[in-house]
Amino acid sequence: MYKRIEQSNDYKFIPMTSLRDRLGEEVTEDVYYYTDQIANVIFVGKPKSNDWVLIDAGLPYGGNKIRKIAEKRFGEGSKPKAIILTHGHFDHVGGLIDLVKEWQVPVYAHELELPYLTGKKSYPEPDGNVEGGLLAKISPMYPNEPINLGNAVQALPVNQEVPILSEWHWIHTPGHSSGHVSFFREKDGVLIVGDAFITVRQDSFYNVLMQNPEVNGPPRYLTTDWDAARDSVRNLEKLPIQIVVPGHGPVMSGKELKEGLTKLVQEFDQLAIPDYGQYVDHENHFH
Ligand SMILES: [Zn+2]
Ligand SMILES: [Zn+2]
Repeated sequence: MYKRIEQSNDYKFIPMTSLRDRLGEEVTEDVYYYTDQIANVIFVGKPKSNDWVLIDAGLPYGGNKIRKIAEKRFGEGSKPKAIILTHGHFDHVGGLIDLVKEWQVPVYAHELELPYLTGKKSYPEPDGNVEGGLLAKISPMYPNEPINLGNAVQALPVNQEVPILSEWHWIHTPGHSSGHVSFFREKDGVLIVGDAFITVRQDSFYNVLMQNPEVNGPPRYLTTDWDAARDSVRNLEKLPIQIVVPGHGPVMSGKELKEGLTKLVQEFDQLAIPDYGQYVDHENHFH
């Protein structure tokens, strides 16, 4: 039994939704994703098998829904071999404490993300004054205090291998958070990118609601290191990506993805970096 597992002090339901809420879609025969309100939760493993992994855990109070989806796909009472995190923001760990209590399975995250998952450190306050839409303005209500997974969480192996998922590698993609990682499978070019880049304009209420696919930089209100975020997107663009499963927004592939990503890399400072905000270093980004 895992001990000392606690929700964050500012855990609360976030009244936000999108047209994809509760929709699921198979990406490949062993990659499935489901949208919890506004964030994607990914299941890697063949249907009806017992060998599967959950990537990210949705928004607060999302745990039960995730468990039901998992049972539908993998069978009654099924639980993953592990839960692996792209990063520890509230909209990726919302159901996590409940799921770990229920499933008693190990959680993995990048070493630099562990303080935010073991009650040691709060994330920086979301920037409600950043250039952006309504969802950026209300971002100060989002939880930023740490959850505590105690001894249930451990660091990803340093050799970039992903536990259980032998065909996958993790790639350090900092910027949005310091220990942010993405997961790539060479064989079919599937990238589970987290929030390193996403396919919806996450600060806009309208765009989040409609979920029209469009390659975008990381969510503005929580991104604290834009230079690192730019490097991360550049590194990802060099990979032979066929299809991307983002933390926010629908799956994208083919020409639409390729062109969108190329444009994001070329015009990162104009497209992704806000013109103003507390985490923007103005001297670097005059254009
Ligand atoms: Zn995030
Ligand atoms: Zn997110």
